[in-house]
Amino acid sequence: MSFSGDVKRELARLAPACKDCKRALLYGMFLMNRISRSNLTLMHTEHKPVADCYVNLLAELTGSIVTMFISDYTGPKKKRNYTVGVEHKEDIREICRYFGIDPDRPERRLDRNCLKRECCIHSFLRGVFMACGSVTNPEKEYHLELAVGEEALAGEIAALAEECSIQFRKTNRKGSSVLYLKESEPIEDMLTLMGAVNCSLELMNVKIYKDVRNKVNRVTNCETANIGKTVNAAATQVEQIRLIERTVGLDDLPDDLRELAELRLENPEMSLRELCMELSEPISRSGVNHRLKRLAAIAGEIQSKKKQDVSC
Ligand SMILES: [Zn+2]
Repeated sequence: MSFSGDVKRELARLAPACKDCKRALLYGMFLMNRISRSNLTLMHTEHKPVADCYVNLLAELTGSIVTMFISDYTGPKKKRNYTVGVEHKEDIREICRYFGIDPDRPERRLDRNCLKRECCIHSFLRGVFMACGSVTNPEKEYHLELAVGEEALAGEIAALAEECSIQFRKTNRKGSSVLYLKESEPIEDMLTLMGAVNCSLELMNVKIYKDVRNKVNRVTNCETANIGKTVNAAATQVEQIRLIERTVGLDDLPDDLRELAELRLENPEMSLRELCMELSEPISRSGVNHRLKRLAAIAGEIQSKKKQDVSC
């Protein structure tokens, strides 16, 4: 089951908050039908709970004889498709009359008459989402959309959502208006507002998990980079000390340098801090660093002397 499917299943099973909420919910679903009113088909959906909810509300509120067909897609995904419809044209006219819609007027517009209370507006938006909405799995990306169709209607729905502090963005896909949300927070708000509280919590959890994982990755990358630097620096120091050992010998070095040089040769994996602690007279990190620089300088002198010898 997709995340969209989870959300729709959760929404379809909610009990209406007030008597008018049922009507508002059905209105949201009916208004979003992208199928012509002269047609007897009212909705195609992949989600059975949505189809069931629609059939029950239509029968209960408008008294229409509603039918549901189940068909299987022949495509590679082989999803089930549920088609909700009526058998007689008169039923469509009856449903339109119930909502005060002129069945002969093709343009769909929002009628705020049945959206007086806040709970009813939320129910209406739930119906809209169930009919034409989708939300991407938050593990992939944050994206919720309503494929409304007509631009004027999309504007009216965006304005209604804005009254509930949800700011949809608008785009046009193949000549059809789509409202969408891109960030996790407004998607969480929209899911909660519609009543999909469990899915909203799930999205929140995914977001927290993703944020923590990103943080861990950043820290790990940073630590790996630091370890890499330490290892490279230690390898260079060992090389320099070996050069001194092979040429002038470590015994001729001043005591403080000789001790550190031997310690480094024996412990190439140690960090500067660890080296500090291992010295017979512990010194600061910058003290160790200073001694290592002196060793590097001696190695550097030997190197340049060697080059001179070769060129002579
Ligand atoms: Zn209500």
